[in-house]
Amino acid sequence: MKEKEIQENMNKSIEATQRNFNTIRTGRANASLLDRVSVEYYGAETPIKSLATISTVDSQTISIQPFDISCLQAIEKSISMSDLGITPNNDGKVIRINVPPLTALNLSKKGYSVLIIEKEKSQDYKPCAGGMASSMQRFLPLNIEDCIESKIKNVEFRWKAADNVTADLTGESPFWIVKREKLDQLLLDESLSNGAQIMRPLLIEKIIKKNDKWEITCNNKIKYITEFLVIADGSQSKWASYFNLGPRKPKFANTISLRLKGLGEIPRDAVRFEFGFIKYGFAWAFPLRESLNIGLGTFINNGLLENQAINKQVIRSFGFDDFPHKTISKKLRIWNGFHSINGDKVLAVGDAASLCDPFLAEGIRPSLISSFYAAEYIDQCLSGKVDDLNLYTKKINNIWGKSMAWGRRIAQVFYRFPRTGYQLGVKRKTAPKRIAQILSGEMSYEDIAKRVIRRLLTRSES
Ligand SMILES: Cc1cc2nc3c(=O)[nH]c(=O)nc-3n(C[C@H](O)[C@H](O)[C@H](O)COP(=O)(O)OP(=O)(O)OC[C@H]3O[C@@H](n4cnc5c(N)ncnc54)[C@H](O)[C@@H]3O)c2cc1C
Repeated sequence: MKEKEIQENMNKSIEATQRNFNTIRTGRANASLLDRVSVEYYGAETPIKSLATISTVDSQTISIQPFDISCLQAIEKSISMSDLGITPNNDGKVIRINVPPLTALNLSKKGYSVLIIEKEKSQDYKPCAGGMASSMQRFLPLNIEDCIESKIKNVEFRWKAADNVTADLTGESPFWIVKREKLDQLLLDESLSNGAQIMRPLLIEKIIKKNDKWEITCNNKIKYITEFLVIADGSQSKWASYFNLGPRKPKFANTISLRLKGLGEIPRDAVRFEFGFIKYGFAWAFPLRESLNIGLGTFINNGLLENQAINKQVIRSFGFDDFPHKTISKKLRIWNGFHSINGDKVLAVGDAASLCDPFLAEGIRPSLISSFYAAEYIDQCLSGKVDDLNLYTKKINNIWGKSMAWGRRIAQVFYRFPRTGYQLGVKRKTAPKRIAQILSGEMSYEDIAKRVIRRLLTRSES
């Protein structure tokens, strides 16, 4: 080969390599990402850059403005069908692409590559009152101070807007109210900055095992391959039952959630539990900085929350005039017995694993704990320290399930005989402190049950 020919061939391979590198996502939006995408335009495959102005809006957004608006949909389709794994947003004039921060150098703190698949485009409001034990900070590798809107000093209990009992939370039992949307965004941002990727909005259509790996097909028709699967799709989880994770027949609490402007009559540093109005359940009011998160829940006998007159009474008891139209009803999956929450290279966390407290609807804590141990045990499997995930189920059953078994028993009795339950369970001298200790994570239902049994035994012996 002559020297000129060699030089030409080399130039061609450098160009080809350059083209491929341009389409590897590096964490910053780069217009050349679309170099390899072509669009069918009047019957001919045409490079996208000949059909549109492609510009970088900011470090994570690319905009595509077609010269001929009639080919907007064809461009959108070509991007969706390409192997880039990105979802375009078409507003009728311009297509925008959000490129998740994906730096290969920064894949994740533990060095693994993580892909989050989320069905919602964004979440402005999450039906969760945000009450969480401050002790959960130790499960989080970052400071969440910015998401905490109130630090609680008192827990108030009432029976039909009267018969008040107040538990003092100053001391070793801090309880925080976080804005859930903010907390979730913070955790997501931190994951992304450690190299995780997110695809949203995206729906999973099929999951199969192929060559000992999971092949996930989504509604963008792209197949994602992964070694381990974490099922975290919440209370309406479709995938937990598909993989036989958790109870075969999950139990649900019926809930209504709303957020009202102002704090009504709830002090900024107190939460209130209102019993007596709601059959088989209760209502709760947790203050944010400038608004109040209110929840209504029924926990046994599949009770419903359809009585508007009662719902209004609850709202009034918190200091508001009327029951607003904008509420969210949600069936919340609650703990329902000891079950396996892992399979071979797959596990479930949070509500998908049915871990939510069946007495008080506490679900943030078990979600954080299960997510923490899910990562721990996947890490141990990948690094060869253990060879299956069964230890994950054992751990969660041990540190959370044992307490929830008592929580479920207490709920069954308390909500069936609520007046007696309130007198014996809340109005007892030490009871408010104990409930506060449960909320703060200092004590479990199991600890309390053992104390009661011990007390009964010593009484019957004397
Ligand atoms: C009214 C109410 C008040 C509550 N208040 C409190 C409280 O004060 N304190 C507390 O500790 N707990 C509270 N809880 C419980 C708590 O909100 C839940 O237990 C907790 O949110 C569970 O977290 P999760 O991540 O498992 O599920 P979720 O927070 O529900 O998250 C599931 C995620 O999966 C996504 N998803 C769902 N399906 C799919 C799919 N097919 N593909 C892709 N993505 C999918 C969803 O969009 C969502 O982002 C409350 C619950 C309710 C209903």
